[in-house]
Amino acid sequence: MLQESLQAAESILRSRYGYDHFRGQQAEIVASALAGQDSLVLMPTGGGKSLCYQIPSLLRAGTGIVVSPLIALMQDQVDALQRLGARAAFLNSSQFPGERQSVIDALRSGELDLLYVAPERLLMEETLALLDDCAIALFAIDEAHCVSQWGHDFRRDYLGLHILGERFPGIPRMALTATADQRTREEIVTRLALHEPRRFVSGFDRPNIHYAVAPKTDATRQLQRFLATHPGQAGIVYCLSRARVESIAKQLDAAGIQALPYHAGLPPETRRRHQARFLREDGIVMVATIAFGMGIDKPDVRFVAHLDLPKSMEAYYQETGRAGRDGQAADAWLIYGMQDVVRLRQMVDASDADEAHKRIERARLDTLLGWCEMTTCRRRALLAYFDDDPGRDCGNCDNCLSQPATWDATEPARMLLSCIYRTGQRFGVGHVLDVLLGRTTEKTAQNHHETLSTWGIGRDIAEPRWRSIVRQLVVRGYVTADADRFGALRLTASSRGLLRGEDRLVLREDPVSTGRVKKPKTTRPTGAPELSPEDTALWHALRALRKRIADDEGVPPFVVFQDATLLDMVRQRPTRPTAMLDVHGVGQKRLERYGERFLDVIREHQLGTE
Ligand code: ADP
Ligand code: ZN
Repeated sequence: MLQESLQAAESILRSRYGYDHFRGQQAEIVASALAGQDSLVLMPTGGGKSLCYQIPSLLRAGTGIVVSPLIALMQDQVDALQRLGARAAFLNSSQFPGERQSVIDALRSGELDLLYVAPERLLMEETLALLDDCAIALFAIDEAHCVSQWGHDFRRDYLGLHILGERFPGIPRMALTATADQRTREEIVTRLALHEPRRFVSGFDRPNIHYAVAPKTDATRQLQRFLATHPGQAGIVYCLSRARVESIAKQLDAAGIQALPYHAGLPPETRRRHQARFLREDGIVMVATIAFGMGIDKPDVRFVAHLDLPKSMEAYYQETGRAGRDGQAADAWLIYGMQDVVRLRQMVDASDADEAHKRIERARLDTLLGWCEMTTCRRRALLAYFDDDPGRDCGNCDNCLSQPATWDATEPARMLLSCIYRTGQRFGVGHVLDVLLGRTTEKTAQNHHETLSTWGIGRDIAEPRWRSIVRQLVVRGYVTADADRFGALRLTASSRGLLRGEDRLVLREDPVSTGRVKKPKTTRPTGAPELSPEDTALWHALRALRKRIADDEGVPPFVVFQDATLLDMVRQRPTRPTAMLDVHGVGQKRLERYGERFLDVIREHQLGTE
């Protein structure tokens, strides 16, 4: 029986979705829902959670009810499902009463395979009563970590979802999330009152994301150089403040890059418009604070750039996870400098949280900083942080691709520490470096610092390198920068061992201390597919067709076909409908709907190149 239903599931996967195999644990998850069991599904972004509840909803009698907090995305999800030939609809507050009524009618008469509904609407007595009268295939609770009061995505409505088990006994429930540590997992199971759920925990790895971190020297220029490697591609640039979002968006726009700002200070209407353009148009760069993100389901985000440090490893993982959901190569790129460290530490200190909480926040920030400065595989360390150490280096991060050099910085570090000490721990980095380098200024003269034993002792080392040393000492806690006193550098308890010559200090060699950013030695997959000129021409033609169709139908381009599908068309160049069916992501319904138009473009290009 189970075998048969799995075969049916695979046949849907092929005929409707156009995929050859289930990925990872998808088959088991589908089977468990088909067997009527509750489950907890933890899968990284882009892992393929949607299939896990969509296919059982298509196979089981009745409608699959999908609970999601992301009202803005329901339309796209429903549009995409309809193109697979599934009968799908949604119920939420964005609809007119008349529209809602026709969805309700369709549901009542058993005409829906899937219904997306926001939690607050589901929990209304009138909705529950409606469902009492309907056949239900399953409940899928998406973004299930929203039930956790500890997490930053907490939604009060999610707490009410525990009633589903009592009210609809025997209907399988599936809780899905991409972010859940051990504690949150248990919270999900308890608070949703799942019944002996099967747990499916996939690793956290996102192998297609390339990680790179660099010290911040000239943020604007560094960003423009980075963006030059992603021409015409969609991506997100994260900044800490609203003001910076505005100014960076303007600068990029002036440089001819289609960039839009997004932050909580913009009118809701503007935010909506910018989000819609990001989803619907090709190649928009969104410059945003972290207000932008939750549930950005756009599969072809080719990069996430951080111009300022995120708050923690968790935040970093979540934010960069928005890149490359479609499995194609994507970049996570971050630059940071000492000012970021000082500012974030100050934000923690100034927050009104209790001391225990602040200690945790500080430790989290320090972990992230340590990760930024590390010289070994970044992916390994990131995964190890989530208890998911793959046991080997990844070959797709900056450190793997060009081993960073390290150097023994014990002597210079001692010079710096003693200079900080002799100037009275009252001055910021600029002045301390003036003294070390022996540069006379009004301030050095006023304070008679030319007479100090540390005056000019650091002349053998160039200023950028000194800055790199200061940053790394601050990150490692040998020096603190007192944010309340204009960034005055001070010694810490750990400075002593270094000053006395008991500790040695090995630092990362910054590529910028030589003035240039080193190119990775090995080539790596970039976001832009590596195509021959003919292939590139076809790729652009297919994308242009996709955009025309998407505009006609009023949907985002990826609802028509995803990038991975267009790329496979370029590779396979099908010229007949049967061959088109072999393309990754082309199922029967989409073939009927779009096949001929795409085949025409491919055929034209065949003629052109013959
Ligand atoms: P999640 O919700 O876990 O972030 P999605 O369900 O949106 O991920 O799936 C991510 C991408 O992977 C989508 O483009 C989807 O079509 C694709 N995908 C999912 N399952 C498979 C599969 N078995 N084979 C090929 N592609 C798949
Ligand atoms: Zn690596």
